[in-house]
Amino acid sequence: MLFERQNFLVAGLSRSGVSAAQYLAAHRAGVYLYDDVDDETVRAAEETLQSLGCTPVKKGELDAAVEKCDVLVLSPGIPVDHPLPIAFKRAGKRIIGEAELGISQLRCPIVAVTGTNGKTTTVSMLEAVFKGAGKNAIACGNVGKPVTSCIDELGEEGIAVAEISSFQLETLYSLKPHVAVVLNVTEDHLNRHYTLDNYIYLKSRILKNSAESEYAVLNYDDPVVRGFAEKTRAKVIWFSAKEQVAGGYLSDGWLCFREERVCREDDLSVGGMHNRMNALAAVCAAKLFGVPNEVIADALKNFRGVKHRLQTVAEVRGVSFIDDSKATNVDSAVQAVSSVKGESVILLGGKDKGYSYEPLFDAIKDSGVVHAVIYGENAFRILGAALKRGYTSLSLCRPFDLAVRIAFLTAKAGQSVLLSPASASFDAFRSYEERGDRFVELAGILKEEYEPHKAEEQFEEQFEEEDSE
Ligand code: ADP
Repeated sequence: MLFERQNFLVAGLSRSGVSAAQYLAAHRAGVYLYDDVDDETVRAAEETLQSLGCTPVKKGELDAAVEKCDVLVLSPGIPVDHPLPIAFKRAGKRIIGEAELGISQLRCPIVAVTGTNGKTTTVSMLEAVFKGAGKNAIACGNVGKPVTSCIDELGEEGIAVAEISSFQLETLYSLKPHVAVVLNVTEDHLNRHYTLDNYIYLKSRILKNSAESEYAVLNYDDPVVRGFAEKTRAKVIWFSAKEQVAGGYLSDGWLCFREERVCREDDLSVGGMHNRMNALAAVCAAKLFGVPNEVIADALKNFRGVKHRLQTVAEVRGVSFIDDSKATNVDSAVQAVSSVKGESVILLGGKDKGYSYEPLFDAIKDSGVVHAVIYGENAFRILGAALKRGYTSLSLCRPFDLAVRIAFLTAKAGQSVLLSPASASFDAFRSYEERGDRFVELAGILKEEYEPHKAEEQFEEQFEEEDSE
């Protein structure tokens, strides 16, 4: 890309948009900025970027900006059928995402990870494994660290472990990873991609440019992902929890790779079959980079999991609180109910994403879930699915705070309150992180109410810990 001679319109000033604009400005491109939202965060971003030579554009000036700019850098948050990308397309101009910009500039090997669920967990595991092997690896992309922000840090010797979402794949063309990992493909984001076929097509694009010298690490147990093997030129390495495939598999309590025992299943620090699958995918990618078995095993043993993914965050009167706020679709909630040990009361609800909740109630009936508290904007759609599947141990209440309290009051000592909502958070929160944080806060409030002495002790302990740092 000839940065100096081109004008870029960066649309959407979230973390990745800001990073793209900074990168372009540093490479002396002409940079224009636009965001549909006009709030404090956006204004602060515009101010910082203006000091680097970027120019904010108002809604009324967009036609002129389309004319002036050669390339649109579109935030993954803005759909490709928004009027702005449509105007660029009509003008015959390029539309790229921040990930495309970053990936086209990377000079080091790339491991790209996609899938409906498990991407963040897997890239975090892989980063830990590579770091354990003394490599300069960075988990980047959708995981929260924009690719454009780590190009220099990675140099030629690093390893970019890039989490790639379906939103990013819409505007990603030159990705040619050394190892592409596809974890699973189940229903999600149908409100954005319209049909499951379109969503599957987007996920398959991660393999589009791969050559015979590259690798595709694919989930053998997932019929959609298994089908991707026919569409790629890359060498396929399978992983499976069910069969002894050519690649990563489970055998006699071990995670194995091609007849070698790499790590004991019981040594994995994160629970559930889904995390064994994530770990198997990470093992495959790490082995392809020559990481020794002991290093992989050590890193997976010490991996502490990622926030808001099945984390036990509090205990009040013998009831544990499990934060799985990142379970924003049905399959991730299904994994949660099948991996949480013992009995639980589940919290379900939020913003609807257009799929059926019925399979979740089939899984709930076979699990330790004893009751479901349904809340949020999609409460009645979830209720309908529960009743269709004959599940009636339910409470319904719209506000999140009250739902958490009801779940706690319903749970008996020894049971848990599981926030695994199978829905996006945007009906009441800015993000799943904010929803998870509120859940933790509410658990703290309940602790104060029901165990005031213990809450005080915990506070003092925390205070002492912080003090000693
Ligand atoms: P992603 O980055 O793809 O959203 P995360 O690692 O953040 O994935 O996990 C998102 C949710 O999905 C969490 O609730 C987590 O417990 C669940 N999950 C993680 N790995 C898997 C998997 N392999 N299959 C299904 N669900 C998973």
